[in-house]
Amino acid sequence: MSKTTRRQCGHWAGWGTPHNGWGLCRIHGGTSPLGEKQAQRLQAAASAQALGVPVETTPEEALEAELWRTAGTVAWLGEHLQAVAPEKRVGGEMGAFARLYGEERTRLTAVAKACVDLGLDERRVSALERAAESFAEVLRRILSDLGVLDDPRAPEIVRLRLAQLGPGTDA
Ligand SMILES: [Zn+2]
Repeated sequence: MSKTTRRQCGHWAGWGTPHNGWGLCRIHGGTSPLGEKQAQRLQAAASAQALGVPVETTPEEALEAELWRTAGTVAWLGEHLQAVAPEKRVGGEMGAFARLYGEERTRLTAVAKACVDLGLDERRVSALERAAESFAEVLRRILSDLGVLDDPRAPEIVRLRLAQLGPGTDA
């Protein structure tokens, strides 16, 4: 697609570039640094939209923040459910925790895939996931020390705090 004439150039979006399906084709600057960036932005915006991630800054940052939040929630809920007797996990008071755990795990997979598709640095992605897990572990210990680990409000508070203390806050 030609950017200047806004007419079809005969090639599909991203034709002949590593970002096949997104942005400009090879002939029209798709492989230039700006073309690469534009394609990545388009893809990030589409991924963020598909996942329903609120975009406050850039789509890339929104996806990273969502990865951080989801990884932390999954780690926290996973650890917590491990410590609970199996029969208490599915039904009863832990039922809501177990349901949320399932939902967040599915989401984590989708968000992580979107990040990898965008070509976000793999070391950054795993460092981010590890940091989120450590943060979740600290939260879990505090809730445990206070004896409120099973409080039904706990998962929502953990998610909220994770969202507020995103991956960008250490920069
Ligand atoms: Zn073109």
